[in-house]
Amino acid sequence: MNAVTLSGRELAADIRTGAAARAAELAAAGRPPRLAAVTATDDEASAWYVRSLGSSAAKAGIGYDVYDLGPAATAEDIEATLARLSGDPAVHGIIVQSPLPGGMRLAGLAAAIDPAKDVDGTNPVSLGRLMTGLPAFAPATAAAVISLLDRYRIAIEGRRAVVVGRSAVVGKPVAHLLLDRDATVSICHSRTRDLAAVTAQADILVAAAGHARLIGTGHVARGATVIDVGTNATSDGGMVGDVDPEVAEIAGALSPVPGGVGPVTTALLLRQVTEAAAGAA
Ligand code: NAD
Repeated sequence: MNAVTLSGRELAADIRTGAAARAAELAAAGRPPRLAAVTATDDEASAWYVRSLGSSAAKAGIGYDVYDLGPAATAEDIEATLARLSGDPAVHGIIVQSPLPGGMRLAGLAAAIDPAKDVDGTNPVSLGRLMTGLPAFAPATAAAVISLLDRYRIAIEGRRAVVVGRSAVVGKPVAHLLLDRDATVSICHSRTRDLAAVTAQADILVAAAGHARLIGTGHVARGATVIDVGTNATSDGGMVGDVDPEVAEIAGALSPVPGGVGPVTTALLLRQVTEAAAGAA
């Protein structure tokens, strides 16, 4: 294996330490930060994530409540909960957990989250503000990709970046954040013709398709930096990314799954809760 491993664990620990210090200051000032997670599913992976976020929040001294509306929840139930939490001065951050009950779109529901509490940048207003250069919370996963690149001093400016995936929560905001840092950005998706021909031009390749081992050695230029955002469950209960581990023979740097973007995402989400609490009137 030649590639440098872009572990997110130490970076995440540093971000959590900073968030915990900020949370303690806010608590001392009478404004203990609090995060609310709204779920409407009986999906096991989702339940695991919601629990693990709770233990990370507790360690950082951030209050945490889960509003489990169950898989039979209607869009109105979810929107009413989000609107109520948006109006609750004791709550500073609100997230909605995916998957949602059939046919519901996250962006539509997340419009009910006050943008000042939209710590995972899912309200379309947050994305619009981000794209137009106004202050807004970025989706934590997208921000985690940039943090990981910065931590390992991987230059972004002027580099050719290719993002595989165009969702509103990962692909599009990552592409935008890279563009904002003066990369030349292409976005690939399920209808892209000859994916490998595009991805092989990348200095920085971000894989966010949710497709196990989609990116193989033939997709990557020698020496490229590859950030694997994908999290794909395996039949034995494990998790693999979108990038074949053999890519490490070709790439200059590669983020692992698990242990790359994931822990940084959680840590940044907690930091954004403290920022929301600090900004609250
Ligand atoms: P999504 O399903 O909403 O979007 C996937 C995107 O990939 C789509 O735009 C689609 O066009 C594209 N795509 C799918 N198959 C493709 C193919 N064969 N070739 C090219 N493009 C293809 O998923 P998402 O919510 O954006 O998440 C993407 C991945 O990131 C998933 O594995 C998800 O679990 C993971 N994720 C990880 C974190 C984290 O913190 N590590 C957070 C959020 C999402």
